[in-house]
Amino acid sequence: MKKALVGLLVFFVSATAFAATPWQKISHPVTGSPQSIGAFSNGCIVGAHELPLNDARYQVMRPDQRRYFGHPDLVMFIQRLSNQVHQLELGTVLIGDMGMAAGGRFSSGHASHQTGLDVDIFLQLPKTRWTPSQLLKPQALDLVASDDKHVVQRLWQPEIYSLIKLAAIDNDVTRIFVNPAIKQQLCLDAGADRDWLRKVRPWFAHRAHMHVRLRCPADSLECEDQPLPPPGDGCGAELQSWFAPPAPGSKPPKKKTPPPIPASCQALLDSHEL
Ligand SMILES: [Zn+2]
Repeated sequence: MKKALVGLLVFFVSATAFAATPWQKISHPVTGSPQSIGAFSNGCIVGAHELPLNDARYQVMRPDQRRYFGHPDLVMFIQRLSNQVHQLELGTVLIGDMGMAAGGRFSSGHASHQTGLDVDIFLQLPKTRWTPSQLLKPQALDLVASDDKHVVQRLWQPEIYSLIKLAAIDNDVTRIFVNPAIKQQLCLDAGADRDWLRKVRPWFAHRAHMHVRLRCPADSLECEDQPLPPPGDGCGAELQSWFAPPAPGSKPPKKKTPPPIPASCQALLDSHEL
C-alpha cells in the first residue's frame, strides 16, 4: 500500500505543479502581530519574521527561493537549536525551507509549511561553511540505503543522532518527520532515555532532511494543532508496518478534495489583490 501511495503522491505533485499559487506572489510578510492561522497543510501567517541569513551557527539553503519566513517561535527555535549544536561543536546547521512571507500553499513540493511553524533541516553538519554557490545548489546526502530499510552507516554519524534528539527534546517541537529507516536507527541507538522518540515520526521520503513542526503559539487563536502522536517510543509494530510488503488487494486511499482555506487567510489574500 505504501508504494502505491508514493506513486499517487508523485502523480498528485506533478499534476498540480503548473501554476504558482497566489501565496507565492506575496514577497513580504503581512504587517501585524504574529499569528499562525489554520492548519499546517491549509493556513497562512500574519506578521512572519525572517530568519537572519548571516549567522555563524547555521546557514540557509537556497536563499534565492525566499522560504526563510516563519512565526517568531520558529525563528527562535532554529536559533536555539543551532546554538546548542554550535556549543557542542557538532558542525554547522543547514536550514532548508521554512515558509513563504505570508505562508500559504506552494504549487509543488510541500503540502504543509503553510503556517510558519514547519522547517526542514538537513541531516548533515559540515565542519566548514558552505560557499554561496553551494548554498544555492545544496547537495543533499541520502542517508537511506537502497534497500529502504537501513541507514548508510558511513553517513550515520553520532552528530546526526544528537541533532535529531536535540530538536526532539525542545519543548516547542511536537513532531519530527524522518524516513522510516532513520527512525529505526534512532530506535536502535537510543538507550534508556526514549521519551523523545515519541515525537519522531516515520514518513515518506525525508531521506536527507528532517521536518520539524512546532506547536501552535498560545496567542495564535486560529491555529489548529494536531493530536499528539500515539504514546510510546513508536519503535514497535507501527514502525515495522512501514517495512512490510503491501497487503494483497490493498488500494491507495482516494485523493481528498482540499478543504477551503480559512476565512482569515482568504481575507488576507483578497486584501492583497486589491
Ligand atoms: Zn518539510
